[in-house]
Amino acid sequence: MTDQHANARPVAPAAARVAALEALLVERGVITSDAVDAVVDVFEHEVGPQNGARVVARAWMDPGYRARLLADGTAAIAELGIGGAEGENMRVVENTDDVHNVVVCTLCSCYPWPVLGIPPVWYKSAPYRSRMVREPRAVLAEMGLDVPVRKDIRVWDSSAHVRYLVLPERPPGTDGLAEDALAALVTRDCMIGVAVPVLAP
Ligand code: FE
Repeated sequence: MTDQHANARPVAPAAARVAALEALLVERGVITSDAVDAVVDVFEHEVGPQNGARVVARAWMDPGYRARLLADGTAAIAELGIGGAEGENMRVVENTDDVHNVVVCTLCSCYPWPVLGIPPVWYKSAPYRSRMVREPRAVLAEMGLDVPVRKDIRVWDSSAHVRYLVLPERPPGTDGLAEDALAALVTRDCMIGVAVPVLAP
């Protein structure tokens, strides 16, 4: 028999299970394929670190917003129309001259989806999850971030109940920038706490 699918790749077992489950749910009328496509589309195009970056830039621009954000992260993030599953109870932790914050989920991979999108692979890796708690300064250095020795490093353990977002320090030399330009400096890694925003030269 000739191969009719010369370019077909073997399907990973997990992907095959997902496809079978989706087909079954559609067949039983529990979901529609359109609904599944819509969810995927949202996470590909609408939900992502650009949302968290908007929150950070607003906090840098507006001291009142920053205060509300630190007092009640969920409510302040909702002011910008951002929220939903995996972000129902948000706590925002602020980097200062004395403190650097970093987020991990030691148990699994809890992550604030509405503000950061889908977690990166390394966030879910066993070495990151175990070592960030024991030796955060060394792990951050390996990831390219040397935290000044004067700063304490606070490690926040995300859970099913609380999801954390790091509010980085506004980089020097950004006084004249508009909110959109500020948001463009704020990467996903800055909001996890494994990087800090820098003004490109
Ligand atoms: Fe988790």
